[in-house]
Amino acid sequence: MERTFDSWLSERVTKVKEKGLHRTDIDVNQRKRLVFSSNNYLGLARDEQLIYAAETILHQYGTGSTGSRLTTGNTRWHELLEKKLASFKQTEASLLFSSGYLANIGVLSSLPEAGDVILSDELNHASIIDGCRLSKAKTVVYQHIHMDDLERKLRDAQSHQRRFIVTDAVFSMDGDLAPLDQIMLLAKAYDAYVIVDDAHGTGVLGERGRGASEHFGVKPDVMIGTLSKAVGTEGGFVAGSKLLREFLLNHARTYIFQTALSPSICAASYVAIDLIEQGIETRKSLKLRVNEVKTRLKELGYDVKGDETPIIPVIIGGAEETVSFSKKLQDLNIFAPAIRPPTVPDGECRIRLTVTAEHSEADIIKLINAFKLIKESKVSM
Ligand SMILES: *Cc1c(COP(=O)(O)O)cnc(C)c1O
Repeated sequence: MERTFDSWLSERVTKVKEKGLHRTDIDVNQRKRLVFSSNNYLGLARDEQLIYAAETILHQYGTGSTGSRLTTGNTRWHELLEKKLASFKQTEASLLFSSGYLANIGVLSSLPEAGDVILSDELNHASIIDGCRLSKAKTVVYQHIHMDDLERKLRDAQSHQRRFIVTDAVFSMDGDLAPLDQIMLLAKAYDAYVIVDDAHGTGVLGERGRGASEHFGVKPDVMIGTLSKAVGTEGGFVAGSKLLREFLLNHARTYIFQTALSPSICAASYVAIDLIEQGIETRKSLKLRVNEVKTRLKELGYDVKGDETPIIPVIIGGAEETVSFSKKLQDLNIFAPAIRPPTVPDGECRIRLTVTAEHSEADIIKLINAFKLIKESKVSM
């Protein structure tokens, strides 16, 4: 029994290896490398004020929350954080989940019903795709940020009971923005509801860091976010009306059947949101740094994608070539991962760089020099 199980697993792992798509866990922080792939955009994950808050509440409440929010897991810090997130996102209410992944699954598996249609951008995050798979509604995928295609598909869906448009606000592998202003107009014209996952925009976009909704000046029906990126902690949330909160609390299975976040994480997140709202200057200098990296890489002749977000994809091409590029960067003491299928399409493998507030001007120079060296070594071959 056991031997067939092992050989079957080994066959499946070998298949991944043969395709050049094998993945391993990495611990970049243990080595003295310059990391250009972190989602800790504002540097909050190591902020002393967050650490102090987490530590204080850790001593008061212990390491775990001990249960679901609906049983023994609820504390004052969960409630305080939810109020904070609602005011941050300028909504009536919010609801915490254990991760952004679970927030997406909870919303999409409960909100759209049988007879409804979910219109989903083709490059949406895996957690949105999984949420759609769990939904009883029909999912229709539209071309990436292609508003004509979305409109066509909205028109085709008019005979259905309800229409939901779901999109990442910032696409995590392309660093581009969904045109939320246009999406809101289409939703109005075709009687649809809008669900936005602002995992990478929260903390980064908008003057106060409220995210894509502030950047575009729009108010989608359902705003999903994560605490694990710019906020620097972990957990996910949904912001919207009080009724939406009540609905999800009663229907979202990933809320009901999940152990609540640890209170210490909630306290640290609470402090983080304050710092984000105050961090206007940090966001300005981050933006300048991102633009500098993009300009310099383009000058070197690299194919750089993305809008004004800290995610900078540099398209290399094939899987092997991209992995080898990432290894060369590592030899030059820079960590930035190769992104390959199935995360991105064949032939569009890329080095995904992220620039954060923790990078110094000297770090940026090292990064650019590494890309320059690799380019030159290729040209001379
Ligand atoms: C990271 C990410 C998630 C998942 O959030 P976690 O809190 O890490 O589970 C969901 N959606 C998008 C777009 C993301 O980038």
